Amino acid sequence: MKELLGSHVSFSKDKQMLGSVIEALSYHANTFMFYTGAPQNTTRIPIDKDLTVLAHNLMDKENINIENVVIHAPYIINLANPKNFDFNVSFLKEEIKRASSLGIKRIVLHPGSHVGLGIQEGIKNIINALNQVIEEKQEVIVCLETMAGKGSEVGSKLEELKAIIDGIKYSDKIAVCIDTCHLHDAGYDLKEFDSFLEEFDKVIGLSKLLVVHVNDSKNVISSHKDRHENIGYGMIGYNILSKVVHHPRLKDVPKILETPYIGEGKDKYPPYLFEIEMLQSNTINESLIEDVTSYYKAHKNK
Ligand code: FE
Ligand code: FE
Ligand code: ZN
Repeated sequence: MKELLGSHVSFSKDKQMLGSVIEALSYHANTFMFYTGAPQNTTRIPIDKDLTVLAHNLMDKENINIENVVIHAPYIINLANPKNFDFNVSFLKEEIKRASSLGIKRIVLHPGSHVGLGIQEGIKNIINALNQVIEEKQEVIVCLETMAGKGSEVGSKLEELKAIIDGIKYSDKIAVCIDTCHLHDAGYDLKEFDSFLEEFDKVIGLSKLLVVHVNDSKNVISSHKDRHENIGYGMIGYNILSKVVHHPRLKDVPKILETPYIGEGKDKYPPYLFEIEMLQSNTINESLIEDVTSYYKAHKNK
């Protein structure tokens, strides 16, 4: 049986989500995630209805269930900092509307950085902002991502996410996205992934786990760095990541790769076709770099 596995893909001006679906299919993915514009800014184009219908038709034909598709909110929104509160709130509201007009139900959000205010203050600010953003009748669920604990990031401990969730008025609209690189960098030992899931279940509840980001890490456990690495090439390693992907308790949860492109300059290629292949088939590919490079070089010259 195939696992629910895809990657980050792009969302272009001219093809919008139709382009995202086509890209996902080129990786043999059955789910995907995208930013509705550049992640580092908040410039956004209006959603085109015709392109959205075409995207949905293609997903239907290729058995991609829209329920498993994910949008990532831009990471410059920082709800932990009360600065720009009104802008952040209205932008996130707009982003949820965009998700909704695309038919997407899950939006991943970095909780934010408290910029020296302290974790407690940060959590309070996040709760405040999210309660302004989230409406009772919305269908989109905001999934707070576990963070590496770089700088003053909030959300590198499950208890911090739990504290945020507990403050949200419409509690069925808030959930969690775990990121394997971030968990490892934050100090969670993924060698003991079953005990991690037990802990998650105790602290937050497994029914709240709606997205998994599958990434290897360039750094050692507890490094608080957040540098993603290709599957099997980092400090987490292939076996643990494959176990996460095939875990029976996560069967219905979409898993999304956010691993780095391979190569340099304009010879940079997405690793996802080959990473998805090695994870689905549960066999490590020792020549990932070579395979990706030769596949896309051959493609380009056609
Ligand atoms: Fe993220
Ligand atoms: Fe992530
Ligand atoms: Zn990251």
